[in-house]
Amino acid sequence: MFNLKNQVAIVTGGARGIGAGIAKVFIDAGANVILWDVLDSGQQTADDLGDKATFRKVDVTNSDSVEEAVNEAIEDHGKIDILINNAGIIRDKSFSKMTFEEWNAVINVNLNSLFIVTKLVLPHMKAAKYGRIISASSVNGSAGAFGQTNYAATKAGVQGFTRSLCKEVGKYGITANCVAPGFIASDMTASMPQDVIDQGIKQIPVGRIGTPEDMGYAYLFLASKEASFINGITLHANGGSYAI
Ligand code: NAD
Repeated sequence: MFNLKNQVAIVTGGARGIGAGIAKVFIDAGANVILWDVLDSGQQTADDLGDKATFRKVDVTNSDSVEEAVNEAIEDHGKIDILINNAGIIRDKSFSKMTFEEWNAVINVNLNSLFIVTKLVLPHMKAAKYGRIISASSVNGSAGAFGQTNYAATKAGVQGFTRSLCKEVGKYGITANCVAPGFIASDMTASMPQDVIDQGIKQIPVGRIGTPEDMGYAYLFLASKEASFINGITLHANGGSYAI
């Protein structure tokens, strides 16, 4: 098991789903985890995770909200070792029917937030000469999916962002990587039509849907000190549904 003892991690979108799974795995590995989310239920999630978890209501698309939360994290812990850019949304619709609002909402949360959050956290990592930045891509950022032109564009964008950022930050002891989850049980996937869910599970060679904790372990590897030579990659975690 990789050890994150005494490390401080921010997990955006940590109130539920994969973000909460990452937080649980990181806390088990010894980290202090700060959950950021727009949902008030993040407080209950943090309470359930115990005294190594704290919650702050943050909108990752709002730079004032993020700046206050970064300042609070530094006041409370003195450092940020790990940033998990996990917050994300879907607004699925075939491209012909998709509105510009639906396009923009997804670009804003899934991609613009990476600019805002990473920009404000990075100076603290540079000063410490250490950091792990891991962002949520998706299998559909590589494979594409019907009804997800907006979403897939952002998730491919997350990979491109990461491949470029890694070249700029490596010299500071900072790595930037992505995790591309496959089909994972969460509120996001539960909101999909049942036939899409059934079809998705049939295409997974390991024979089951992924869990938030499965994703937590993928993130844990990239967040570990031992992964210091892994930089700029996308770790696909999909049970074999999309072998790349
Ligand atoms: P989820 O909807 O269960 O959780 C996402 C969280 O992000 C929610 O708690 C939500 O409130 C939060 N969030 C949304 N907008 C926010 C904002 N502006 N500021 C702060 N928080 C915000 O989804 P999930 O399935 O846990 O997905 C987590 C990440 O993994 C997402 O980026 C998603 O695109 C990605 N992903 C999920 C799957 C899957 O199958 N579940 C597959 C591939 C990629």
